[in-house]
Amino acid sequence: MSSPSLQDALLQWFTQNGRDLPWRRTYLPYHIWISEIMLQQTQMDRVIVYFKRWLDHFPDIAALAAAQEQEVLRLWEGLGYYSRARNILKTAALLCRDHEGALPENHGALLNLPGIGRYTAGAIMSLAFNRRHPIVDANVERLFSRLFNLAAPTKEKHIHNFIWRKADELIPEGKARFFNQGLMELGALVCLPRSPRCDDCPVRNHCEAFALGVVGERPVVGKTKEIIPISMVSGILRHHGKIYIQKRLPDDVWPNLWEFPGGVIEEGETPEQALVREYREETEFAIQGLKKITTIRHSFTRYRVTLHCYHCRLLGSGTEPTLNAAQEFRWADPDELEKFAFSAPHRRLINSLAGGL
Ligand code: SF4
Repeated sequence: MSSPSLQDALLQWFTQNGRDLPWRRTYLPYHIWISEIMLQQTQMDRVIVYFKRWLDHFPDIAALAAAQEQEVLRLWEGLGYYSRARNILKTAALLCRDHEGALPENHGALLNLPGIGRYTAGAIMSLAFNRRHPIVDANVERLFSRLFNLAAPTKEKHIHNFIWRKADELIPEGKARFFNQGLMELGALVCLPRSPRCDDCPVRNHCEAFALGVVGERPVVGKTKEIIPISMVSGILRHHGKIYIQKRLPDDVWPNLWEFPGGVIEEGETPEQALVREYREETEFAIQGLKKITTIRHSFTRYRVTLHCYHCRLLGSGTEPTLNAAQEFRWADPDELEKFAFSAPHRRLINSLAGGL
């Protein structure tokens, strides 16, 4: 008896092994859209928690479109890449204005929406509407580099194009939803980055790298991006039981998020000197009584940030800042900080002081 086709083997495997994920219970376009945006750059376990919380707050697109940006950013806190959250909000408004509050079943129309690119449009079309559109994520790239024994990095244009073309050609008629998920799921659960479980693989008979004994050499690794370390400082300024916070500028890193002032430690400066300078430059406040709280390490894109955190006090009695690097400020009660959306390292700083603010 001949072995099943790659498609049949994969579909059968996915039916038996696909994980039970919240958005797979409904396949509603709204659920697929939000989950796919959250899954970009974020681990599955974490996304499940955020996704459920998101739906509790915004059960449908109309509820989302009516939300304030700060509410959305606060819910997004910890997922990073906040432009994703802003684009979701913009898209929700456009959907209500132009598409009767629903995601259109049209690839071109989806691509015109903020934050929806080729991958997300393909995911909505195939997973929600079961239409024949390919999707390629990092799992599919790795899987295909082995299945088709691709001898160059997957980021190279001709390899990248080959993978998308193959992902399109292979979709069986009427089975896009399960086939596309099967590919991603196989990459996530079996064709693992370091130790692929070839013995358990349903498509082993179709795998060129396995047949040639070169699985360990695929995918071919391209140039890795340079990691840039940065030392930064931040200070929690207190005055009469209140804490100073400010809202970042809309065109800055972490736009519209709240923060404790601070910044990059310049060459030759101690963290304390940098904090005094940053407060003066950003707010024209003079500060004193610096006391170290903690050091937080945080990575984003290719930056590795070491953030030195301090308590500090006002020198002088004026409490009105000059906002040189922010659009808004508050003297907030410590328990009010929950309400504001902060960047991940600043939220970690708040959490590290839980009970001691
Ligand atoms: Fe990946 Fe191994 Fe399956 Fe090939 S046989 S697709 S390398 S798990």
